Amino acid sequence: MPDRSTLLRVEHLRKVYESPTGDVEAIGDISFTMDAGELVCIVGPSGCGKTTLLKCLAGLLRPTSGVVEMDGAPVTGPSPAMAVVFQEYGRSLYPWLTVRGNVELPLRHKQLTRAARNKLVVDALEAVGLAHAARSHPWQLSGGMQQRVAIARAVAYQPDILIMDEPFAAVDAQTRADLEDLVRELHASRTISVVFVTHDIDESVYLGQRVLVLSTSPTWVQEDLAIDLPPERDQITTRALPRFTELRTHVYDQIQRAKRGQAVAPRSAR
Ligand code: ADP
Repeated sequence: MPDRSTLLRVEHLRKVYESPTGDVEAIGDISFTMDAGELVCIVGPSGCGKTTLLKCLAGLLRPTSGVVEMDGAPVTGPSPAMAVVFQEYGRSLYPWLTVRGNVELPLRHKQLTRAARNKLVVDALEAVGLAHAARSHPWQLSGGMQQRVAIARAVAYQPDILIMDEPFAAVDAQTRADLEDLVRELHASRTISVVFVTHDIDESVYLGQRVLVLSTSPTWVQEDLAIDLPPERDQITTRALPRFTELRTHVYDQIQRAKRGQAVAPRSAR
């Protein structure tokens, strides 16, 4: 039986893509659990199956075998308890809707009064620092601001878990740092659980309470690392800590081992 606070349970997840040119085993055998309120980063070499894993978690892709459970119930399709933020913010927002309209759209599927919906939208836009841009259209905003709109839309939906797939890969370094801090702030202030997929080692260590290091494809969890940095983090002080350097060096080393095929898979994943 899962622990009471277990939000997400992944057990022996395997995913094989079938294609006319041959099957691709993207995920070999992945198992992990996540407690409610955690911020877990998933990091691994390019092509190792991060997006495949995330799609299985979000119910967008059916696993070949294994279990994904949310709150004790199997995930069989997209669930209102989950919201996903993708890397390609440009394609995830509707250009003909205003910022406000984009954030409000998914809420139309919820049984809410107009006043309650309005409050959620205003509140989410304030939380991401975009209250002033509610009437703008996405194409009038910078890339970083567009990704804030996507985050506001996810937060307004009030999911139990926010799943983010390399959400800041396409923005500049300064914007990325600001958005990382926004995620930490939202996680802390809204007690929302976050799964954050990234290929950026420093980002995973800066953001995460835990970092799952994935092996190369067919993937398994090479390491489940607790990030014992202080909970209050900021871009300058935290990244200057000797422990931050130790942790990022450790994760880097694990990924290099994964790439060289030096990590040994558990028997169940072979
Ligand atoms: P990552 O997100 O870590 O870059 P992906 O999950 O996108 O990795 O891909 C993992 C593996 O699965 C890769 O070998 C990729 O080529 C393969 N793959 C991904 N999507 C498909 C698909 N729809 N059909 C066949 N193979 C796929």
